[in-house]
Amino acid sequence: MQEVELKTDVALGVAIPSRNARGRIARLGPVIDAVLANHGYPPVIEQLLAEAMTLTALLGSLLKEPEGQLTLQAQTKGGIIDLMVCDYLGGELRGYVRHDPERLADVSKDPTLQELFGHGYLAITFDQPAAKERYQGIVPLEGKSLAEAAQSYFAQSEQIPSLVRLAAAKTEGHWSAGGLLLQHLPEGEEGRERLHTRLDHPDWPHVAILGGSVKPEELRDEAIPLDDLIWRLFHEEEELRTLPAIKLSRGCRCDPDYVRSVIARFPADEREAMVGEDGVIRVDCAFCSSSFAIAPGELA
Ligand SMILES: [Zn+2]
Repeated sequence: MQEVELKTDVALGVAIPSRNARGRIARLGPVIDAVLANHGYPPVIEQLLAEAMTLTALLGSLLKEPEGQLTLQAQTKGGIIDLMVCDYLGGELRGYVRHDPERLADVSKDPTLQELFGHGYLAITFDQPAAKERYQGIVPLEGKSLAEAAQSYFAQSEQIPSLVRLAAAKTEGHWSAGGLLLQHLPEGEEGRERLHTRLDHPDWPHVAILGGSVKPEELRDEAIPLDDLIWRLFHEEEELRTLPAIKLSRGCRCDPDYVRSVIARFPADEREAMVGEDGVIRVDCAFCSSSFAIAPGELA
């Protein structure tokens, strides 16, 4: 098996069996640069999407199925940002943000979620097609950060005590980001009937304190492999397990052939109306900002 480097663009699963805790740690660099390069967003939006992608990597790596998909969607009416979508499929990440540039110009340098989204909601969808399992939870976009919103998602929507840390920064034109997710699952990984989970189990504060001591710089620092960082935090535990690492990359599922096949199904007169001044039909992918030019003759 090919060894996955544990320094950047990678997610690693962690388990601390004696404390009934599991977690994911992720670090992202070039993958964020690659996603953001196509969009040309202002710094505030780039920062938000870098954190959102890091969260998406953490949550996506919880999926058991290789074909499983995780979607993070923040939505609002009348916010400066009205839509943010990130998704994960087999280690591939993509994302985009729809915002009002004029209103964004007036916002503070380090805005709260509420300043950006107004009264918005964060929907997290786990989709595992083989098991025919689809689960969506929704929480208000409140608090200072996406990490806080994600923590309340797990507490409110899934009744799982969780810790989420996200860090992202751009230095010398390149992004580096890292995230840590820790959860207390005293009744095991399976099942959603956790109504009787004790939210005050003594093992959990212990894990949360150790995990919470991680510094943003450590999460982002490519010089510290993820297994070393986990060891730093939890080396005093009885047993510390890691799962096979997942390589992260930028990936979009838009496909010129698929786009062509969709357009080809429209009636001829409707296709005619889609042709622009340059004589081709243009279809844009919001996720990756790719633009497909389809000549009407191709569809005949
Ligand atoms: Zn695309």
